[in-house]
Amino acid sequence: MQATVKTVSSYLEKLAPLTIAMPGDPVGLQLGSNSAEINKILLALDPDQAAVNEALSIGAELLITHHPLFYQKLSSVNEDLPAGALVADAIRNRLNIYSAHTNYDIAPEGVTCQLAARLGLSADNARVLEVTGSEQLLKLVVFVPSGHEDAVRDALAAAGAGQVGDYSHSTFQVSGCGTFMPGSGANPYIGSRGRLEKVDELRIETILPATRRSAVINKLLEAHPYEEVAYDLYPLDLEGETIGLGLTINLEEAISLKQLIKLCRERLNANSLRYWTGSKDSFKKIAICGGSGGSLIGNAVRQGADLFISGDFRYHDLKQAESSDLALVDAGHDATEWPGIAYLQQYLERKLQGDGYTTEVSLQTSGTAKWNC
Ligand SMILES: [Zn+2]
Repeated sequence: MQATVKTVSSYLEKLAPLTIAMPGDPVGLQLGSNSAEINKILLALDPDQAAVNEALSIGAELLITHHPLFYQKLSSVNEDLPAGALVADAIRNRLNIYSAHTNYDIAPEGVTCQLAARLGLSADNARVLEVTGSEQLLKLVVFVPSGHEDAVRDALAAAGAGQVGDYSHSTFQVSGCGTFMPGSGANPYIGSRGRLEKVDELRIETILPATRRSAVINKLLEAHPYEEVAYDLYPLDLEGETIGLGLTINLEEAISLKQLIKLCRERLNANSLRYWTGSKDSFKKIAICGGSGGSLIGNAVRQGADLFISGDFRYHDLKQAESSDLALVDAGHDATEWPGIAYLQQYLERKLQGDGYTTEVSLQTSGTAKWNC
């Protein structure tokens, strides 16, 4: 069974909701149709001609990229120009193109989190470098027959509900009486058709991030014994976990610049890496941002970071870092974003296979432009 573009988009948007993207960033479906059926997906960093050619050569119907196809405004589809030729090529060959850009940069499990994971830096207690918003929270209320409350609570907790700081399974429950009358087509777990039932039930309430909504409701429906489960979801006017660009990570043990550079070269394939070291020999508070992090140097300094790993640092970024003795490692825009693309392959394969789809997911292998060093 093949997944449609809409199904694949829904998986991506659970991980990186479109609503958290930076204003004006044209994320989501760039070209194509939500109803298109997809046998093969190609993942790439950029929607360039090399990626389009590779997608078509392997028979992929969907190209998913980090950088959006229409990031720069396209005022015409002139096939005599590279951008117009690429768009025309994709349309003629029915290649759908989807981009997860700043929404995937900002998502808690997004580009920077995957970069940290690739480098073996734990992001568990990391702080967001530049806050762009906070997770929306929901209150779930569900009515459970007495005796089933622990199974339901465990299922909710396993799906990500009831997590308050370091406390899991956080719920409140109160007992009461539930009533219902099974209709002629019902198959009731308790009671019989056409008779009013009064059952000892518990009202369990808990909290969840809106991004966990489907996972929590699916688990609830699996664990609850009733044929028809009564539950309510309310939006909450509370600030959830902050989300944003980049992270500051407190290491348990300091790391030397030499070790960090070795890690970046080996694990990111960062062939064009360059660095500036200040007065320190070792580093414990590391700021990190996949892509282009120069604009976050001030945030890194304010959060007390002593080293910043990102890409695309400019001369004036170096001068700003120098004035605060913040060491810089520029591992390359692309090299710091590729771990995020690689993670999408694992993530999508898991989702697709879990739902019984045969759609295959590949990573771009064709080379794109790299600096010579
Ligand atoms: Zn980028």
